[in-house]
Amino acid sequence: SVSTETPLEEKQGSVKQIKISHAEREVFPGAGFSKLDLAHYHAQIGERMIKIAGHHPLALLRCPRGIGQQCFFQKHAGKGFPEQVSRLAIRQKNGKTATGMYLTSIEALVACVQMGVIEFHLWGNKIDRMDRPDRLVFDLDPDEGLDFSGVKSAAFEVRDWLAELGLASVPVVTGGKGVHVCVLLRRTLDWQQGKDFSKTLAQTLAHRYPQRYTASSAKNKRRGKVFVDWLRNSPGASAVAPYSVRARKGAPVAIPVQWDELADLDSANSFGIRQAVKRLDRPCPYLIAMQEPQTLSRSVLRKLDI
Ligand code: ATP
Ligand code: MN
Ligand code: MN
Repeated sequence: SVSTETPLEEKQGSVKQIKISHAEREVFPGAGFSKLDLAHYHAQIGERMIKIAGHHPLALLRCPRGIGQQCFFQKHAGKGFPEQVSRLAIRQKNGKTATGMYLTSIEALVACVQMGVIEFHLWGNKIDRMDRPDRLVFDLDPDEGLDFSGVKSAAFEVRDWLAELGLASVPVVTGGKGVHVCVLLRRTLDWQQGKDFSKTLAQTLAHRYPQRYTASSAKNKRRGKVFVDWLRNSPGASAVAPYSVRARKGAPVAIPVQWDELADLDSANSFGIRQAVKRLDRPCPYLIAMQEPQTLSRSVLRKLDI
């Protein structure tokens, strides 16, 4: 509820007992969507989102003045960051220690919204085993001009390759242009093995269908193709959290879908905030996959020469 005591120019709201300043600020110009609406969305979606995103180190995309204004990624907690957001020590390549962040509560999500966070991004490991991924993400990035059906074929191709190895996967439409094909794992492998596996998958596809896929991030090798971005699968790299809003026009949301549902979608950004909330009425394919983590066995890795 918007309190009436505060002056008009800075209306405050309160969600989950967290004060929301500039409650009526239009975060997505033209979409009729205020900062308070965004806080309410996170309160509603929070339980499901925390089950998926909780206890993974975070990268946050903040746009304190709304989208279209300056936005920046934040991976480390500054002094002024809300106490509801949990902290962890992250050893960096230079030997120094940085203060990372993770979520454990709906309040933490809402506190982030108060700080101008729009997008939540996750590392592929949980905080208690920083060296072992619990999920691998194949980030399918179409070249400009390639339509969504090309992305969908790529996603199905990745699914089938994984299935041949006995691994089930879940597609997440990103709210942008592509799809993240996700594999939820038991934590038996280290990051190096996860990375090698992902690289092998990307290179195998690019080798099989050189006109359709590339495993190289170079833009000039991407012409008319889908880039199978396996580089998300390393410590410190992130992928957008399921149910995160994207800081793009129209406030699209990253949504996990069933494979047969993906076949019928026209774009990666067809779900908005209202549709995301509606999906709380049915089971989440990503959450189901998390509840049945799979083993990427040593014999499979050996078969791939890893
Ligand atoms: P799209 O479907 O439009 O490609 P996307 O979320 O997959 O959307 P990418 O550019 O492919 O966008 O990036 C993949 C992931 O890499 C993002 O979800 C994000 O987690 C991470 N990422 C990209 N750019 C940055 C950055 N500058 N800082 C931190 N993380 C980033
Ligand atoms: Mn992508
Ligand atoms: Mn990418």
